[in-house]
Amino acid sequence: MRALAIDIGGTKLGAALVTALGEIACSQRVPTPATDDPEVVFDALTGAVDDVLHAGGIDPDQTGELPGVGVATAGPLDARAGTVSPVNIGAWRGFPLRERLSERYGLPVRMFGDAVSVAVAEHWRGAARGRPNVLGMVVSTGVGGGLILGDTVVPGTTGNAGHIGHVSVDPVGPDCTCGGTGCLEAIASGTAIGVWTAERTADRAEPLRTAAAAAQAAWAGDPVALAAFRRAGEAIGMAVAGAVTLLDLDVVVIGGGVAAAGAVLFEPIADGYARFAALEFAALPRVVPAALGGDAGLVGAAAVVLQPQSYWPHRN
Ligand SMILES: [Zn+2]
Repeated sequence: MRALAIDIGGTKLGAALVTALGEIACSQRVPTPATDDPEVVFDALTGAVDDVLHAGGIDPDQTGELPGVGVATAGPLDARAGTVSPVNIGAWRGFPLRERLSERYGLPVRMFGDAVSVAVAEHWRGAARGRPNVLGMVVSTGVGGGLILGDTVVPGTTGNAGHIGHVSVDPVGPDCTCGGTGCLEAIASGTAIGVWTAERTADRAEPLRTAAAAAQAAWAGDPVALAAFRRAGEAIGMAVAGAVTLLDLDVVVIGGGVAAAGAVLFEPIADGYARFAALEFAALPRVVPAALGGDAGLVGAAAVVLQPQSYWPHRN
């Protein structure tokens, strides 16, 4: 059996056929069009999907052999209405993606947030395989998360469980775009790291304006960049310590572009974690980098179709 998987991001739109073993049989990624026409974005997406179906020997108008479509999307989304309004895709505001895909391909569509898809993918085929209690996190432009307890995705009351990026880690910290104060995202996201280093390197010929530039500088020993990753990592460690203490987790898996910085982020995470996870059961080392990289969105999207008893519980 194969499932059709879709990954919606502000930079790229991805589609794939994924096998029952979680392997990507064929895939296609196209740039997300910079446009204010919602149909242009939808056409780019269906173009990629059609290519993948053809490559897999399936007629887009006769998809009967497929059990369904899994969609991992940048947020926010309204799971009940089936609409998406990704922050970085301005053309889609309340776009009825579930209905449109269902009409186009004649298949049931299951849609959820991209951070949850990373938790699912890492639990199914990645760094959290065989671990029943998992927090999966994405640290990139923002900070997101998804929660798996007892080998089952936890949606929460409104489908938003796992929003660790908007847990406050500093009561006198920076304001957050959500309206809160000192949220993890306002300190540890790539955006926040870039703002923090830009302010402190403004007098340089080449200020460090992005997290990617800061990561490169940190590896070269730049003290401002190292301090930015220490501040971000310790904040992540503090938030993760709270989550592990609350939920008695086996493992926390962290992926996303900022996490790709490696040890300059993960060493401060370990320090922050050790400082705030004081109880013995919470103190075991268990914060690890994601294993699946850029494929996690597609693999997680397929998992909700291929393993619904674990990854699509209590829903339809
Ligand atoms: Zn917030």
